[in-house]
Amino acid sequence: MADRFAASRMQGLVQSDIRRLTIECDKVGGINLGQGICDLPTHPLVAQGAIDAIQENKATYTHAMGLIELRRKIAEKLQLLNNLNYSPDTEVCVTVGSSGAFASAMFATLDPGSEAILIEPYYGYHLNNLLLAGVVPRFARIDLATMKLDRASIEAAVTPKTKSLILCTPSNPAGLVLSEADIKWLGALAEKHDLLIFSDEIYEYIVYDQHRHISIASVGNLRERTLTIGGLSKTFSITGWRIGYLAAPENIIKRAAVVSDLLYICAPHPLQRGVLKGFDAPASYYEDMRKQYERDRDLICGSLEKGGFKAYRPQGSYYVMADFSKLGWADDQAASRELLARAKIAAIPGGAFYEPGSGRGKHLLRFCYAKPADALAEACKRLAALKP
Ligand code: GLN
Repeated sequence: MADRFAASRMQGLVQSDIRRLTIECDKVGGINLGQGICDLPTHPLVAQGAIDAIQENKATYTHAMGLIELRRKIAEKLQLLNNLNYSPDTEVCVTVGSSGAFASAMFATLDPGSEAILIEPYYGYHLNNLLLAGVVPRFARIDLATMKLDRASIEAAVTPKTKSLILCTPSNPAGLVLSEADIKWLGALAEKHDLLIFSDEIYEYIVYDQHRHISIASVGNLRERTLTIGGLSKTFSITGWRIGYLAAPENIIKRAAVVSDLLYICAPHPLQRGVLKGFDAPASYYEDMRKQYERDRDLICGSLEKGGFKAYRPQGSYYVMADFSKLGWADDQAASRELLARAKIAAIPGGAFYEPGSGRGKHLLRFCYAKPADALAEACKRLAALKP
């Protein structure tokens, strides 16, 4: 029976598989390679910064756009790392995680009924946030086997109602790092159809091999139509702190800051101060982290292959999509259930990253390898032992 207290915008929206798997994994005391919880030690500078701020009673609201000192650090980082020039006074907004940045930007710029292009496999929270805002998704895709954008599918997704293009680089869940040529091609498409680009770059420090992260807004004239979304969750292993940011031209930030204020008032004040201290970390911190993830990627991909999976080696981020066809499980839900029951490992059913009802992604599982070394080693041992 229909629930008379349910808002129509909630239609089809339920708890995500990402959340569900964490609950189910905890029930059996399993190793959680599902949700990207990133349970690694918090950088000590960041932790101490927040402790000091609490002890110094930094307990009131900050500016709706975040502490100006933090915005200045973010703007400096954007300049140095991303080759992006944003004013900390008017073009950067600190948000409640990168999800807060996405939601604020989306509500500030996209009308219900307008269309957004999402590239499969996509991050499910991008899709469901769009649905919550009444935005209509159109699906394009990445070819996992070649780790390339399927350009024809992106062109085919454009209609006269398309207003935005949602990108994530390095991507969750495929681990695709967009090349300069990809960005130029996507940018030309966005310019031709006058699209806004949402660029989620939260995994920017985690890139492997010869790949390098390029911020979309730094290419050509894309700055004027790009909203850059970032966060410190992955960089400092503080996924539960909820500190992210949005960088965009002033006209967009002005409105997004109003939405962010209405939704959350501001990001947690002492935690903003902790993150501020984190910017004093030496350059070696980022390189050590990157190298560690690269070793972890090699370890998990090797173990998956030994266990009978086909692993689609990521170029960045800390997720890997793997095809389990040879293991004989009926579909992604069964595979996720079986893996948890047999090996006590949680992984996300691939369908969560593909158009609902399309039947795509049903032969895939997503594994997150942002884990402490001992947990990852044990999980990899169990995966390698699965063998069909
Ligand atoms: N980004 C992380 C993931 O993809 C976690 C975010 C979440 O809990 N939704 O798993």
